[in-house]
Amino acid sequence: VSNGLIVSFGEMLIDFVPTVSGVSLAEAPGFLKAPGGAPANVAIAVARLGGKAAFAGKLGDDEFGHMLAGILKENGVNGDGILFDQGARTALAFVTLRSDGEREFMFYRNPSADMLLSPDELNLELIRSAKVFHYGSISLIVEPCRSAHLRAMEVAKEAGALLSYDPNLRLPLWPSAEEAREQIMSIWDQADIVKVSDVELEFLTGSDKIDDESALSLWHPNLTLLLVTLGEKGCRYYTKNFHGSVEAFTVKTVDTTGAGDSFIGSLLCRLVEDRSILEDETRLREVLRFANACGAITTTKKGAIPALPTESEVLSLLHQ
Ligand code: ADP
Repeated sequence: VSNGLIVSFGEMLIDFVPTVSGVSLAEAPGFLKAPGGAPANVAIAVARLGGKAAFAGKLGDDEFGHMLAGILKENGVNGDGILFDQGARTALAFVTLRSDGEREFMFYRNPSADMLLSPDELNLELIRSAKVFHYGSISLIVEPCRSAHLRAMEVAKEAGALLSYDPNLRLPLWPSAEEAREQIMSIWDQADIVKVSDVELEFLTGSDKIDDESALSLWHPNLTLLLVTLGEKGCRYYTKNFHGSVEAFTVKTVDTTGAGDSFIGSLLCRLVEDRSILEDETRLREVLRFANACGAITTTKKGAIPALPTESEVLSLLHQ
């Protein structure tokens, strides 16, 4: 589809997901190993739609790290930005599926390899070649990966990339809610595009109202596009000149993991071809309809990566 490179920066890990809900992993009759990590999901979402994607981040030099690197490769994601830490293990997440459908996570981060990525290890050549640089990982939380994260953003921006930020709030990993809010908002103004979920909007504004007023309270003049994803209610968009909402598709949802990554990945695929979409409301709405279709399809299968759609799957939902 396009030749512009989208570099997604952050963590990749394995979720251990019980086969039944309502019990902890320890009590479950079995579990699945689901590769994930929002930035890695976004890279695969882009590649599956035919875009050019690279993942930049650190894995453990262990069985899991090599398995994850293999999954990126199989999916056509450039792995030039992958590093293997010789000492620490790959990050793992142990999931509990609550009876109400929500997920609870316990992380192995003791420290995990992703947390040890340092600024001097970054593949700057790869980052400089990005037309779009996407980030939004838990690597803002601790050093040295926090400095690596900030440096990568700076280098990408200097090289002229469009910066896309998804806070991916994982509140239990932060020392406090206050710190999470402060750190997330401290890098808000450097992004061109920010995508938040309704839950993140509530957290960041400190209000349970999800409306234009609360979204616009997060607006920053440096932003080009602010997106709020609303699950089965679709999404809202805000630019300097216009705002509105685009309805979701009705599908048989079985697992919403990765819907937001699929949504943003598809949007970036279109923007890397043509940034002027951001100035044209009709075209932006069309692209967001496509992104909603990607998100919807992702909810129809278990897991994130296996559920990310190809372009033809999206087109068949759009033309139904
Ligand atoms: P996140 O994964 O970041 O929380 P959402 O769950 O809001 O993001 O999903 C992103 C997009 O995927 C939504 O804007 C919507 O278009 C689509 N989507 C998510 N859940 C559903 C659903 N249950 N039915 C239809 N579309 C959905």
